[in-house]
Amino acid sequence: MLRKILIANRGEIAVRIIRACAEMGILSVAVYSEADRHALHVKKADEAHSLGEDPLAGYLNPHKLVNLALETGCDAIHPGYGFLAENAQFAEICARRGICFIGPSAEIIRRMGDKTQARRTMQQAGIPILPGSEGSLSSVEEALEEASRLGYPVMLKATSGGGGRGIRRCNSPAELKHYYERVVSEAVKAFGSAEIFLEKCIEKPRHIEVQILADHYGHVIHLFERDCSIQRRNQKLIEIAPSPGLTEAEAERVCALAVKAARAVGYRNAGTVEFLCDQEGNFYFMEMNTRIQVEHTVTEAITGVDIVEEQIRIASNLPLRYSQDQVQKRGFAIQFRINAEDPRNDFLPSFGRITRYYAPGGPGVRTDTAIYTGYEIPPFYDSMIAKLIVWAPTYEDAINRGRRALDDMEISGIKTTRAYYQQILKTADFRSGRFDTGFVERHPELTRYSEKRSKSHIATALAAAIAAHAGL
Ligand code: ADP
Ligand code: ADP
Ligand code: MG
Repeated sequence: MLRKILIANRGEIAVRIIRACAEMGILSVAVYSEADRHALHVKKADEAHSLGEDPLAGYLNPHKLVNLALETGCDAIHPGYGFLAENAQFAEICARRGICFIGPSAEIIRRMGDKTQARRTMQQAGIPILPGSEGSLSSVEEALEEASRLGYPVMLKATSGGGGRGIRRCNSPAELKHYYERVVSEAVKAFGSAEIFLEKCIEKPRHIEVQILADHYGHVIHLFERDCSIQRRNQKLIEIAPSPGLTEAEAERVCALAVKAARAVGYRNAGTVEFLCDQEGNFYFMEMNTRIQVEHTVTEAITGVDIVEEQIRIASNLPLRYSQDQVQKRGFAIQFRINAEDPRNDFLPSFGRITRYYAPGGPGVRTDTAIYTGYEIPPFYDSMIAKLIVWAPTYEDAINRGRRALDDMEISGIKTTRAYYQQILKTADFRSGRFDTGFVERHPELTRYSEKRSKSHIATALAAAIAAHAGL
């Protein structure tokens, strides 16, 4: 078993990994930029080391991180998500220098990180893919030709994209011409690669993804599916496990496809196969994420499997603890990504000091975060500051629990998406489980809520106090 792990990340996922280490009796080493000196992961780890002044450079420097891991006597690095988690070179350097990279091999990361290569691989393995260009495009003329073959609308996508960026829907040749260069430059800026490709655009699709675990002994299992269709600008906001909109037969079909996909590439460790589901119930491979995902928590809630612990066990060369028959799903879980953004003001980022933070509790409620009262959110990083996860025996119960827990949660001093999610939970579409990736765009009215909550809270508390006093 691994003994000491350096966590090459920050924020809630660093804290999440430190917790797994603590429970497993493994020492944890945190790293931080000076902007993160007062961050929770620094306080929670057994050791913490500065990466220097620059808010980003240290977290993105593979050599520095591997050197630090060696100097501090670590035998492994956990990359979390974002930053270097899907950087094949980082995994390669770890391997070369005798540090265990908690994730798949550099070769698999590279193959799946290039979306056109991943599509080819999956097609060869007999997994349905979305119609699209063979590989990356070489010119706007080629893009126009391919698009007329596929039929509009089409999606222009960055070949090494991630995090919902570098994706643009084009409804006509004029739009394709207009957006081509823009997507290229977006791809260069965000991913350091000018490669883009085309995919047929699926109308009103659902985003369905499957969590996979694979060990070094040929065992591959799935931990059921998640529905991540509640998105804004191709970025997930709310995730649900299992999908409330799939039939049992559909769920089984997509989970079997994911296992087949993972087997076909000789996958190791935890990973996620993402699919789009069209209105006829056909699943198409979209991409594979070769890391822990933000929404792994909802799968943990319905299966009881600690996915980060399993990642560490697999990296320690232990066989999977569960066969497919031994994992069962129970109930429904919903995760809300609490972002430091103002939904009422076009989701404008909102940074600054958290003057008061109260974490919701009660049965079936989990909060993963790195914030605390008095913490100042630095402006350099992702806007997701907390994840609220609720579990209940039925989908309806999970929604009601979500409303209660969101109401319980208090984050003062900055704007967040908390109250916006309350609006989403009230809609008939969400409650019926019938929604697709266009939900947020189709419901602009949900961002026009009033923030009277605290007042009604006080009023309710006052009424209760008066009632108690009057002996009512
Ligand atoms: P998940 O599927 O785990 O929900 P997201 O797509 O939300 O993943 O990404 C998780 C985090 O990683 C976000 O902070 C996102 O900005 C970042 N991220 C994901 N892929 C990339 C990438 N290729 N390059 C840079 N950042 C990325
Ligand atoms: P990323 O690597 O940024 O996560 P994905 O390829 O997973 O990019 O796509 C992100 C989201 O963009 C999807 O969940 C979906 O909502 C939308 N999307 C991507 N490709 C298509 C497509 N061909 N048709 C319709 N929607 C798409
Ligand atoms: Mg994706």
